[in-house]
Amino acid sequence: MNENKNLEKADKNYIWHPFTQMQDWAHEQPVIISEGEGSYLKDIRGKEYIDGVSSIWVNIFGHRKKEINDAISEQLGHIAHSTLLGLTNIPAIQLAERLVGILRSSFSMHSSLLNKVFYSDNGSTSVEVALKMAFQYWKHKSVEGKHTFLSLENAYHGDTLGAVSVGGIDMFHKTFEPILFKTYRAPSPYCYRCSSDMDYPECGHACIQKMEEILQQHHTEIAGVIIEPLIQAAGGMIVAPQGYLARVRELCNAYNVLLIADEVATGFGRTGRMFACEHENVLPDIICLSKGITGGYMPLAATVAREEIYNAFLGSFRELKTFFHGHSYTGNPLACAAACACLDLFEKEKILHNIQQKIAIFETRLREMGELSHVGNVRNCGLMAGVELVKDRGTKTPYEWEQKMGWNVTHHARDNGVFIRPLGNVIVIMPPLSISTETLDTMLKTIYNAICAVT
Ligand SMILES: *Cc1c(COP(=O)(O)O)cnc(C)c1O
Repeated sequence: MNENKNLEKADKNYIWHPFTQMQDWAHEQPVIISEGEGSYLKDIRGKEYIDGVSSIWVNIFGHRKKEINDAISEQLGHIAHSTLLGLTNIPAIQLAERLVGILRSSFSMHSSLLNKVFYSDNGSTSVEVALKMAFQYWKHKSVEGKHTFLSLENAYHGDTLGAVSVGGIDMFHKTFEPILFKTYRAPSPYCYRCSSDMDYPECGHACIQKMEEILQQHHTEIAGVIIEPLIQAAGGMIVAPQGYLARVRELCNAYNVLLIADEVATGFGRTGRMFACEHENVLPDIICLSKGITGGYMPLAATVAREEIYNAFLGSFRELKTFFHGHSYTGNPLACAAACACLDLFEKEKILHNIQQKIAIFETRLREMGELSHVGNVRNCGLMAGVELVKDRGTKTPYEWEQKMGWNVTHHARDNGVFIRPLGNVIVIMPPLSISTETLDTMLKTIYNAICAVT
């Protein structure tokens, strides 16, 4: 007991938590996690919680998954880390080959391939890499002036400055405006709160028309369009209407800009397919992968480019076409070994097949939640969902953010054994893909009850 108190005190003394007002944290009783098993987390007092957000969107196969544990232990018996600068290593090679194989079968309708894997260690860096690659690609192609990007309102691509520059969430990003590079911003495909005040499909993708106007005027300045395909996750689980992504691809072709798909959140089965882009049969020029890549075990990311982009960087050393970018832990063998084990599990456990039934249950329960008097909109893409709370359903009036309604609901759920995190007034639900249908049911009931109790 004393030990627990000491841990609590040390946390408050020494840890500065991410996205956290530490003055509030100081008055809270922190939940200190000591173990996990399957879809459950356990704290130092022995209380269990369903991991309703997959430990912030990373976990796929549950905690303490034997095959992943074994792969990491096995790799530890060889070497924990060596560098990809001037050397290479076995797991990094094996993973790159396997990723390209998976991408090939996911996008088999296309003749072009995503087949050049650049490693880094988190989602934000995978985006930085993509942006720098896209910019430098045009330079090498001797196309002048493509010095910026087009991104979306409500976009989230990470917290490093390049990623923040293409971000569109004012609460997180606006403060940093003076130190960001300038980008163009297209409307978010947020049908529930459409900025043109229209309805899908009568709107004919009005938000895309706005994007086209920007491209028409500024394509000579734009190196790439970066988007979170199908669902803008951190922006509030905003699901794009059908056909949106395919239209973005067409525009990129028409205006000679690269399409960067940030699948950091959506990749590895979260949307019901291996990659979100598959739903609309869209091949991006560059794809950013992280979060689920190691099943939520270790930090790892891959920015995978089409061969044509890679080829533009080839030349004699003196031409300085080298991609000057790299991180200390690039291609970390432990993380790559974990990722290989995950790709095995996708096959062995037929994950993509088995989640279809869970998605159906998920959607039925979500529809029930959508009937509640303070739920304005419920949306999902596979096992990623957002439940938007409103003060008034008729007028869609949101709760004032200071009321912390989302936070209150998640707090209630946590007291009742489900750990989830809100995004403002949106309750995010994103369980591990391996969650059992019983646990899925328990989780959704607890969240339903929490919404009823709090709103
Ligand atoms: C989480 C996220 C990122 C950033 O990843 P980190 O590992 O947190 O740096 C980037 N893009 C998207 C779409 C994300 O959801």
